Amino acid sequence: MKENLGAIPSWPDLYIPPLETKFPALSLKGPKGERSLVSISEDQEFTMYVCGITPYDATHLGHAATYLTFDLINRYQRARGSEVRFVENITDIDEPLLERANRDHRNWQELANSQIDLFRSDMTALHVIPPDDFVPATGVMDLIDHAIQQMDKNGFVYRIENDLYFDISSFLKDLPIPRDQALAIFAERGGDPDRIGKRDPLDPVLWWANKNDEPGWPSSHGFGRPGWHIECSVIALRYLLGESYLEIKNLPHAINLQGGGSDLIFPHHFMSSAQAQGILGIPFAQHYVHAGMVGLDGEKMSKSKGNLVFVSTLLNSGIDPLVIRFALLSDHYAADRMWTSDKLNAASASVDVIRTALSRELVSSTDQVISEIIDSLADDLNTPSALSALFKWASSVDSHGSEPSQKGAGGLSRTIDALLGLAF
Ligand code: ZN
Repeated sequence: MKENLGAIPSWPDLYIPPLETKFPALSLKGPKGERSLVSISEDQEFTMYVCGITPYDATHLGHAATYLTFDLINRYQRARGSEVRFVENITDIDEPLLERANRDHRNWQELANSQIDLFRSDMTALHVIPPDDFVPATGVMDLIDHAIQQMDKNGFVYRIENDLYFDISSFLKDLPIPRDQALAIFAERGGDPDRIGKRDPLDPVLWWANKNDEPGWPSSHGFGRPGWHIECSVIALRYLLGESYLEIKNLPHAINLQGGGSDLIFPHHFMSSAQAQGILGIPFAQHYVHAGMVGLDGEKMSKSKGNLVFVSTLLNSGIDPLVIRFALLSDHYAADRMWTSDKLNAASASVDVIRTALSRELVSSTDQVISEIIDSLADDLNTPSALSALFKWASSVDSHGSEPSQKGAGGLSRTIDALLGLAF
């Protein structure tokens, strides 16, 4: 039997400067547009689960924008004094990975490991705080097995031939999109709505019996591999709630936040949340937060169009990672946005102005700009407004030779390093 590997090393931790400022609670817009306050008292943990990569391709700018979003939440909650527990998975066994490995005549594990390495170096360059646990699906097969047994006891599991399905019927009232759209997306994204014997066409698979020479793992349900969504339900619960998570009862929700790109709203977050509830019997996440999609020069960025822009390509061409981070933060996290070379050039010019201003020995007061940055971030992570306040301050220092009134800009530098991850 394959050894249970569990979490793997993530990437080096970062120094986050401490801030001595009062912070308002973070207000985030919920999936249906309503505002939900992420208000966690200081003696509590903030538990955040972010859906990670399928490692068949390196980090493109869409991934980077997503991971920066949750990095901002992580930084804000830490600055407020919360103890953040952050877990991220790696979908290192799934159809797209196997297909890519076959196409390129590569061993799927070797392909996955090489892309995970690249992801680590991209996240390090972009100054993203590493997760406390970075967990590949292949490391938690035993946990998935136990969780499916628990769901079965709770009455959510049925079998077609040797494959196991999750009965989604009691969650369908919470479908985030109309049912006809859901059926179409489900089919597009690896679902099998037409399979004979399904109770509902939207029931997701929990465990595929092994086919031909595909990779598989032994389990109490037979040799095979997990469906797409179950790893996230299980990794989030086990790594955020601890080893005895199956005994937990009577919590209003299992974790504080599940995050990912907006392409994960359905089916992935809907299904992983329903399945987590099928395991534990309590609602999964208090907040679901989704980052917008990034397009290129007016078109959707996608692997089928072959127009993905990779972080590593930009870094290899000599672009300062701080400029990439600045450019990605210049749009609101929830907005679908376009990536253009103009955006990168504008970010580079702004970074130069800010760097020069921050390095002056005497500058005008930074109190107001610091509070504008904090207020902007507290208001649904409004980074365009935070960066524009910063740029305005820097331009006034630079161009008008304004009356210098303070010694240096250390407090401001620490604030933008700690909250925005921009270490000038
Ligand atoms: Zn996930």
